[in-house]
Amino acid sequence: MIKILDKTFEIYIEETKILQRVAELGKELDRDFKDKNPLMISVLNGAFIFSADLIRCMGIQPEITFIRVASYEELQSTGKVKEVLGLKENIFNRDILLVEDIVDTGETLSYLVEMFETLGPKSISIVTLLHKPEAQQKSKKPDYIGFEIPPKFVLGYGLDYNGLGRELRDLYQLV
Ligand code: 5GP
Ligand code: MG
Ligand code: MG
Repeated sequence: MIKILDKTFEIYIEETKILQRVAELGKELDRDFKDKNPLMISVLNGAFIFSADLIRCMGIQPEITFIRVASYEELQSTGKVKEVLGLKENIFNRDILLVEDIVDTGETLSYLVEMFETLGPKSISIVTLLHKPEAQQKSKKPDYIGFEIPPKFVLGYGLDYNGLGRELRDLYQLV
């Protein structure tokens, strides 16, 4: 158990299990993108650790870039997505692989997919470490999912609570 600010969290998925699954996802992506030249777009802040581990598990050598969006305040989605840091790369005619930490309401994902679609990519695929299917309403289902989890707040492995806890190696769940 750990305490962050006013909340207590317990271990939910251990680092070894996360890394095993990330390696499997890397193999799947190698297989599906081997004849393509994908541009990975990692969605900051939450996906920074997942995308770093994922790209180092891949045999193909994709280009990677970052976009920063925010929708969560404390433990809940505000329902509005803010783009905080934009994209400089040209994505016209590119195979895009969006890398997310977690898909909850799907608000962030549908915002990003709609925005990217206006820029004429060849394809858009989505990989997310975590997916809360029970909470999902807004977006299409991600193409690659690390773990399906219940609609409970999690932190660690890049995910935060009020800016804290991103460095934790295991994934924790709110008690
Ligand atoms: P969505 O727009 O799908 O509701 O949520 C997207 C973003 O909210 C995620 O990329 C993530 O940053 C944040 N988020 C959603 N669920 C959780 C959670 O359980 N824990 C943390 N730390 N962030 C979450
Ligand atoms: Mg995210
Ligand atoms: Mg957050």
